[in-house]
Amino acid sequence: MFQVELRTENMVYGNVTMRAKSSRYIKNIKNAALMAIALVTLGACAKKETAMTAKKTPAGYGNYYEIFVGSFYDSNGDGMGDLRGVIQKLDYLNDTKPDSNTSLHIDGLWLMPIMPSPSYHKYDITDYYAIDPVYGNIGDFDALIAECNKRGIKLIIDLVMNHTSSEHEWFQRAWNGDEEYQRYYHVVDTKPPGNYYPLGDTGKFYEGDFWSGMPDLNFDNNAVRIEFEKIAAFWLEKGIAGFRLDAIKHIDTARQKSIEVTRWFTDYCKSIKDDVYIVGEVWSDDAEIIAFYTSGIPSLFNFSLAQENGVIARAINTGVGADFARNVIRWRALMARQNPEAIDAPFVANHDTDRTAGYFAGDIVKMKMAAALYLFMPGNPFIYYGEEIGMEGRGIDENKRGPMIWSTSDSAGITRGPDNMTQRWTASAGVAEQLSDSSSLIRFYIDTIRLKNQYPVIYNGVPSELPSQDRAIAAYIVSDSLTRIAIIHNLASVAKTVSVTDAKSIAGFLSAAASAAPSLKDAALELPPYSTALLSLSDQ
Ligand code: CA
Repeated sequence: MFQVELRTENMVYGNVTMRAKSSRYIKNIKNAALMAIALVTLGACAKKETAMTAKKTPAGYGNYYEIFVGSFYDSNGDGMGDLRGVIQKLDYLNDTKPDSNTSLHIDGLWLMPIMPSPSYHKYDITDYYAIDPVYGNIGDFDALIAECNKRGIKLIIDLVMNHTSSEHEWFQRAWNGDEEYQRYYHVVDTKPPGNYYPLGDTGKFYEGDFWSGMPDLNFDNNAVRIEFEKIAAFWLEKGIAGFRLDAIKHIDTARQKSIEVTRWFTDYCKSIKDDVYIVGEVWSDDAEIIAFYTSGIPSLFNFSLAQENGVIARAINTGVGADFARNVIRWRALMARQNPEAIDAPFVANHDTDRTAGYFAGDIVKMKMAAALYLFMPGNPFIYYGEEIGMEGRGIDENKRGPMIWSTSDSAGITRGPDNMTQRWTASAGVAEQLSDSSSLIRFYIDTIRLKNQYPVIYNGVPSELPSQDRAIAAYIVSDSLTRIAIIHNLASVAKTVSVTDAKSIAGFLSAAASAAPSLKDAALELPPYSTALLSLSDQ
């Protein structure tokens, strides 16, 4: 539909000082809109910032932030992060001021499990209607919802439906011979192959797909479905926006059964709250993730992007952007075929994966470039807490869930972290230090989200191809009925000149490498190394 052509040629930038970059830049600027963005982007010009008023994020869309509550912020000095601690840091997450340089401007929060559990990670629940006392109480949770609502932050909570804790009352009854509760689980008379364990003295066996302390629930039993309808209603009526559904591909060994359970749960939640937001974890290959979109679930995590071997790290480590752009377009088409309302959930790291600081070996340019790639994708990107300050964490799970470093000179609120951590990040700059450094990773996240919020079409537009002859360039167009924006990333260590035939103006710019700003002249976009430009395209 749109005839846009990109041609590129290499052009090497020399090392120039910040002052030289700024003056070179000012000379080149002809477009006032570009100047406004660039003044924000370049720290040297921070005092001359021009206000950018964010436009409204499309309904159902936004940037989400994943929190492991126990490691986030400790409000009462016992070393354990807690719900009151999350409340105390809400201004950091979204202070409601669109021009703020000290807030991430996130729209949604995902709390990892907060219900009572014997484990530090809390993915084995003993009571679905309460808050683990180490995190606070239900009154604290109500206060958190109220504070989130004041800021327009949507709160979603982790819901573990695949299994309970072996200490849950339902399982204890089953263990002690109550057949009604044995039917809540996958209990059999003869041990089949796989992860089955003896059920107390009953002579029977139960399935624990992850381990014996996490007995798998039986969703063929309607009583179990009714339990989870009551649980979902309880939390939705409290005012949460929805759920992150844990491990849904494990609900049944038959994929179609797991999809059917996902559909039942989604439909039930919609009957309680028609705009409920549910994002599911199907940690699997592309085909299996896409298959779960037939359930009508609003979002599923886009696992192929994440981790060291994911699409994003591969693009950055090889300097080849073309495959990333193709993946953005392809994924959207695959999702829409199953559910036209589906919303992608891109991410680069979560609580189960190595963090980007590890797999990019602390290279801040690569971490910034990764942020630009996933945050500018259509859909609802999920930022794992600490990614925005370059927190390290790899190896055992505990290491990936370490204490958020709020400051390197002030220990207020810093948690002790999981007891079994074998590796601790030695931060050279925490949140406070990075917020006051315009070249920091955290400020890059903030600049990226502020720029994105000028163009809501990036959230919900349809991506389409912007052909390029140069494989270093990751370029695509996002469009709706009113707006067309080209998103062009240069993943090369050299500048590129890109020809875009219907470019109208540069709408915004980000540089991961503190290099010069781009320029647009006669449809030729000059794009510095490791940078991102948004172009407004002329109407067709
Ligand atoms: Ca605490």
